[in-house]
Amino acid sequence: MKRVEKRIPLATPTMHGNEMAFIKEAFDKNWIAPLGFNCDGLEAEISQYLLQNEEGECHTLALSAGTAALHLAMKLAGVKRNDIVLCTSMTFSATVNPVSYEGGVQVFIDSERDTWNMCPKALEKAFEKYPSAKVVVLAHLYGTPAKMDEILEVCKKHNAILIEDAAESLSATYKGKQTGTFGKYGVISFNGNKIITTSGGGMLITSNKADRDKAFKWSTQSREPAPWYQHEEIGYNYRMSNVVAGIGRGQLVYLDDHKAKKAKIYKRYKDGLKDLPITMNPYLEESDPNFWLSCMLIDNGVNVDTIDVMKKLNDLNIETRPIWKPMHMQPVFKGYHFISVEDKPVCEDIFARGLCLPSDIKMTEEEQDFVIEAIKSCF
Ligand SMILES: *Cc1c(COP(=O)(O)O)cnc(C)c1O
Repeated sequence: MKRVEKRIPLATPTMHGNEMAFIKEAFDKNWIAPLGFNCDGLEAEISQYLLQNEEGECHTLALSAGTAALHLAMKLAGVKRNDIVLCTSMTFSATVNPVSYEGGVQVFIDSERDTWNMCPKALEKAFEKYPSAKVVVLAHLYGTPAKMDEILEVCKKHNAILIEDAAESLSATYKGKQTGTFGKYGVISFNGNKIITTSGGGMLITSNKADRDKAFKWSTQSREPAPWYQHEEIGYNYRMSNVVAGIGRGQLVYLDDHKAKKAKIYKRYKDGLKDLPITMNPYLEESDPNFWLSCMLIDNGVNVDTIDVMKKLNDLNIETRPIWKPMHMQPVFKGYHFISVEDKPVCEDIFARGLCLPSDIKMTEEEQDFVIEAIKSCF
């Protein structure tokens, strides 16, 4: 096969032009600072999007990054020095680093095979081993909702707070309900490669207005209402800028369009690769993923190495990426505990046999067919 001239990327931002109107308004009003009407607008519009036809309340806080939102969620959940937090192992490091910011200790939980997310049985086993654990942080990997009924049941049984890292899964639903709204706290990310972007940014989600207000105060240097700068707590500079919030408002209009295009890419891979000894990243029938990244898993016992596939595709100018390397395998978390109900950890196995495929919504059918042919040539 001959290398394509234009690189086929994993996922890049897709702008539509209407974002500029919101940015222009910020410039016209000279409102370039953090906070402002675009931040307020983005918060209100995301709240409305997440709630859709559901009953209840949804409060949001626009922040400088999804990681900042995760940090404030840890603080709201009351994580303190030496507290154990039960965490998804196979995820991006940003899911679990904020535990350390507060001095907590991660215990990592294995994945299950049906969604690649936190295994409810392993979570139950972890609570039996660490009955003092009061906080769980779970990620919906690659936009695929986790087994929420089972996870929520285990959390409820042990009276634990669930933090849902929906950084990759904005617009994905489980039994019709949006990811990010199941836990006491939810987090989304608008980083450059996510399904919609503000270039960089994130959001905290909670049904509790008082918690939202508390996080707002922390995110603005913990200023007390006084005529002078008065501080009773340590604060952070975590607010989103009014300029980038405008990008998000323009993007949000296209969220469902992006989701439909991502789903189409996934289905084309599934169909195009069906004769190979591989499967696509799985999901539950009762869920509707956003298909942020399409991933393939090479069948057990097939003598094809994912890193070789990655190298070969890279030579053809196609970008792929390994599955998130589990956190319990990372040098920075050496010696931290890991809980699995299997002899051979599921997440280690998925990491060894899985690969993220180009999932950019600007990818043409011809380009995707080229990727499919390139993968076929590796087998
Ligand atoms: C991107 C991502 C984050 C972090 O979001 P930022 O906005 O980049 O800080 C957290 N968790 C997961 C699973 C992510 O993919």
